[in-house]
Amino acid sequence: MADEGIRSDWINKDFYAELGVKKDATADDIKKAYRKLARANHPDSNPDDTAKHEKFKKVAEAYDVIGDPEKRKKYDEVRSLASSGGFPGGFGGGPTAGGRGYNFEDLFGGAGAGGLGDMFGDLFGGGAGGGFGRRTSQQARPRPTKGADVESTATIGFTDALEGVTVSLRLTSDAACPDCNGTGGKPGTKPHVCPVCEGAGYVVQSVGGGFSMNETCPRCGGRQLVYDEACPTCHGTGRGTSARTIQARIPAGVKDGQKIRLKGKGAAGDNGGPAGDLYVTVRVTPHRIFGRKDDNLTIEVPVSFDELALGAEIKVPTLSGAPVTLRIPAGTPNGRTFRVRGKGFRRADGTTGDLLASVEVQVPAVLDEPTRAAVEAYREATAGKALRSNLFEQV
Ligand SMILES: [Zn+2]
Ligand SMILES: [Zn+2]
Repeated sequence: MADEGIRSDWINKDFYAELGVKKDATADDIKKAYRKLARANHPDSNPDDTAKHEKFKKVAEAYDVIGDPEKRKKYDEVRSLASSGGFPGGFGGGPTAGGRGYNFEDLFGGAGAGGLGDMFGDLFGGGAGGGFGRRTSQQARPRPTKGADVESTATIGFTDALEGVTVSLRLTSDAACPDCNGTGGKPGTKPHVCPVCEGAGYVVQSVGGGFSMNETCPRCGGRQLVYDEACPTCHGTGRGTSARTIQARIPAGVKDGQKIRLKGKGAAGDNGGPAGDLYVTVRVTPHRIFGRKDDNLTIEVPVSFDELALGAEIKVPTLSGAPVTLRIPAGTPNGRTFRVRGKGFRRADGTTGDLLASVEVQVPAVLDEPTRAAVEAYREATAGKALRSNLFEQV
């Protein structure tokens, strides 16, 4: 996490020019220049001059770095490295082309993934610069960033899963509060520079061992300005939500719990970057009579003892169309599964699963008189057949 306070946007910023001092200015010169500029541009004495507000912020930011001997040293190193082309990409020469062979680990004192990752994220215009990394990149030059991925859930019917369905999804995502435009201030009131970070938007935290890191300012949340009265809509957070409804196509054959990726249906990108993706977790409601095993549709078909013993033709429903006729051969064992090809779920490769119909003997709970007589006749006819004799054979 420690990055020794190095910030990636230093490469693009000339803090010396901001304070109007030479690169070899003494610490005293820098302090004097800062005080003069800070006084001249202070928002309290220029409440309506936004240009001066901006200048004040920049001056404060510049002094925060080159007014601190340690930070100034790092800043000078980063700037000279950048101008010499020693940075890979973007500054005329990658590590192989430039051949400088700089060891970044050395330069940045073995900075952890947070520090270097943030820096390279900005240089390469990719990666997720979290936390203050994002903010610094905004202060430098806007770069296209991909919008966030969004998650949603859709519940569809069992039959819809067989055939595919288009669903309407209402998506809410974070957006700037519409009433204060994300400033967090009561509309109509004026901001002033944050007293905690003095307009930098971040504070430097010592994390021990001589390391420090920049943290988003706890008072202004990185917005650099604060309001005396909070926006009543967002209670000062500056955040709101925006809702939109999109049509999402759920493909045929989707399984319960499956996650569908809809490319480009997530949050909008920044600065012309592509939109994120939408991930829809699909819930499929169970069916009253059908089930599912892999891509096969399953059904349990009640049959009588005589249908299995003598054979029969029975009608079985399908999910997608007309019933099919099952031909049950004489002497079919209970529980046997019959396969009806092509009546199951569509697979990704375009083929289709089958309908698996299992026969299940139903024993009547109550027998009427003629049925009882028939069953008793059957018992009499089969008397003496030792059905369970092999259970008692001695091995
Ligand atoms: Zn602040
Ligand atoms: Zn608000």
